[in-house]
Amino acid sequence: MLFTKKPEKQVDENKKSNPELTELRTSIEKAGLSDSLTLLAIRELERMENMDPSAPEYSIGFNYIEYLLSLPWHVFTDDNLDLNHAENIMDSKHYGLNAIKERVLEYLSVRTLFSLQKFHIIVVDDEEIARTNLEYILRKEGYAVSTAANGLEAINILKEQHVDLMLTDLKMEKMDGMQLLELSKKISPHTKIVMITGFATVNSAVDALKKGAFHYLPKPINLEELRQTVRQIIEIKKHIQMTRSPILCFAGPPGTGKTSVGRAIAEALGRKFVRISLAGLRDEADLRGHRKTYVGAMPGRIINEIKRAETANPVFMLDEIDKIGQDFHGDPASVLLEILDPEQNSHFTDHYLDAPFDLSGVMFISTANMVERLPAPLLDRLEVIRFSGYTEKEKIHIARIHLIPRQIKEHGLSGFDVKFSDDAISKIIHNYTQEAGLRNFEREIATIFRKMARLSLQNNNLSNNTNSIIVDAALVEKLLGPRKFSHEIAERENKPGITTGLVWTEFGGEIIFIEASLMKGNRQLILTGSMGNVLQESAQTALSFVRSNAELFGIDPDFFNERDIHIHIPSGAIPKDGPSAGITIAVALISLLTGKPARNDIAMTGELTLSGRILGISGIREKILAAQRSGIKIVVFPKRNETDIANLEPEAREGVEIVLADEIPSIAKLVMQ
Ligand code: ADP
Repeated sequence: MLFTKKPEKQVDENKKSNPELTELRTSIEKAGLSDSLTLLAIRELERMENMDPSAPEYSIGFNYIEYLLSLPWHVFTDDNLDLNHAENIMDSKHYGLNAIKERVLEYLSVRTLFSLQKFHIIVVDDEEIARTNLEYILRKEGYAVSTAANGLEAINILKEQHVDLMLTDLKMEKMDGMQLLELSKKISPHTKIVMITGFATVNSAVDALKKGAFHYLPKPINLEELRQTVRQIIEIKKHIQMTRSPILCFAGPPGTGKTSVGRAIAEALGRKFVRISLAGLRDEADLRGHRKTYVGAMPGRIINEIKRAETANPVFMLDEIDKIGQDFHGDPASVLLEILDPEQNSHFTDHYLDAPFDLSGVMFISTANMVERLPAPLLDRLEVIRFSGYTEKEKIHIARIHLIPRQIKEHGLSGFDVKFSDDAISKIIHNYTQEAGLRNFEREIATIFRKMARLSLQNNNLSNNTNSIIVDAALVEKLLGPRKFSHEIAERENKPGITTGLVWTEFGGEIIFIEASLMKGNRQLILTGSMGNVLQESAQTALSFVRSNAELFGIDPDFFNERDIHIHIPSGAIPKDGPSAGITIAVALISLLTGKPARNDIAMTGELTLSGRILGISGIREKILAAQRSGIKIVVFPKRNETDIANLEPEAREGVEIVLADEIPSIAKLVMQ
């Protein structure tokens, strides 16, 4: 038992003498909450009136009521539905990303059209005169109106058309108003239902409210009250997402603009922007809160962010949905589905709040590095929009137009005329970053400005003319120190048994080296370098392929007798998996066994079958960009990817030669020239 009841007299004194509670009661009354929330708050307050203010439960109750009052239950920002405005904002903040911008604008157009649709009302009544009268009045007000003589007819309309409001009589033959209410809540949860009741049925009307009806109007209908109810529902509809349109999921490597496009959408619509990262989330309670029965119980992160947004319809970014902790208690996909599904999230219940909060006005956008990791039911509800890494040219352009001007402003250097030479920008990209996106690049630019800000104050002349600064490659090195990265291929040893491959990871494309060596033993294949199951199987397949085709490559068919083969992929701490290293492993083995070193400026990617066919792979653009970053000259792709490669924009292919292959011998010949 949490609370001990005090004698009546003492309780009365507490009520009178506790100004804190009196003030709280006034706040509850003034807050304009719905009836059920007011009741919830008052009930809690009344419990507190029976408590000693020093009891922990008293402060739990106090915090709870304050929290309840602080939430934006009915606060909405009005959407700016001007698509040209949205387009201008997206363009002014982002370079390129054309396909993404287009998709986002289409998405906004659908939502806009939807909210511009005529308000649709069904009138359900078995009395024809009552039906046609209401129909006439509502049509005159400018609404689209359908009529139904009974519940079944109404349900058929609900199944086929979008309906905003259903005005229904309670007493009808075949299916009465109550049954209709329950069924329509399932078929069309966003249709608001208003019951029309005769005097004798007021009790059932109250019952109907409990079951989710929006309101009830007594017969004969007071027209002014009807108009007011409709206006109220229209106001709510403006902010609620009525369609079951899919939730956008921005997928791609870090630093490619996912968050920034999300922010731009919020700005374009005139909504608030909030985000939480789901990485490493362990527990449903992180999202849904803990019950308020103990001191320190808190609401979950969803409701907390809504409070921070101060509106019930922000753009809400759920970052890294592919990184929910592996040991999550409960099923993360089903919790997320509930939050993201407009049919379920209109009554999202946080355990701490213990009252449903309507999240259907929120525009959720999720982000992921690898959508391939998401469970199928969740992926099914998402519309994936792919963000890709940037080419060097794009990075230079973005730096000039966006990153550098922004950093100048943020470092208080607006008074200076700062110019970067092309060499300087390329140097930052090559020597200080190694990434598909722009995160570290922007960070290094910020470091340059931080150091310049300090130097400018210390009067340590950056340039002779005080207001104009030219940042050239030498100054970059002076400010950023020794290079952090060099072309990885230069570090690769050049001896038989080592080949270069391309893989696709959550950070974008990357190059890997495969090392194979042969030693005395008894036909064991040793695999190291954190290889996943699929990769291990690729290695076994590659070995069997080489053994069964040894003579084709001029290799002694008995090479495995009394020998072990070890295949290793350096950077052993990073787990690697996937089938696309098959051909790279096969060529490493051929190089080892023929004693011919493989060229270090050629990288390969492709899945190998036991019979020697080469299957297509994914992540093509990311892999080519990784090759460009690493100084690779030639990339070998499966012939099956020919169309994907032809569809790439020419710039993404600049600087590397692409060779398409459908069999190992020609690849081996090319690589081991
Ligand atoms: P992500 O969310 O994908 O990790 P961010 O949106 O945080 O990436 O982007 C990293 C930085 O790069 C931000 O400062 C962002 O404004 C900038 N940025 C990314 N893409 C572009 C682009 N196409 N044009 C301009 N700036 C960009």
